Amino acid sequence: NCLPYFSRGEVVRGFGRGSKELGIPTANFPDSVVEHLPGDISTGIYYGWACVGSGDIHKMVMSIGWNPYYKNTKKSMETHVIHTFKEDFYGQILSVVMVGYIRPERSYDSLDALIAAINNDIEEAKRNLELPEHLKLKEDNFFRATA
Ligand code: ADP
Ligand code: MG
Repeated sequence: NCLPYFSRGEVVRGFGRGSKELGIPTANFPDSVVEHLPGDISTGIYYGWACVGSGDIHKMVMSIGWNPYYKNTKKSMETHVIHTFKEDFYGQILSVVMVGYIRPERSYDSLDALIAAINNDIEEAKRNLELPEHLKLKEDNFFRATA
């Protein structure tokens, strides 16, 4: 068990798989950040806290998955920050702490089923993050160490 897991990196462009069109944009980390993950970390959906640059700290859900671009030999980390931003934040530094695991990856029969699953993940993340043990990580100095 490798949680909580702290991670920070520049937000890079993904493969335009249309997350934003689904109403669920996911900020991608570059390979250099993904490569630091413990090799045996489970793929699936995680939740935790996230902050863009030196901005406010928000709840987040993150998908760690096998990256189709690399024929599923490398992982990807995609964070959906549970907040409505006025603008995209490509090129900015995203800081995250993963505090809990929700479920493994799976495929869905329809787009509606996928969206429903993600919305369930978001609700579960929001609930769980209110636990004192998780709230405490929101205050971690990690989030205030950015230049
Ligand atoms: P990409 O394939 O480039 O990752 P997405 O459709 O997944 O495209 O959109 C991700 C981008 O949307 C992020 O890199 C970020 O700049 C922007 N964005 C805006 N709001 C959010 C949010 N709440 N969570 C994550 N990314 C967001
Ligand atoms: Mg994305």
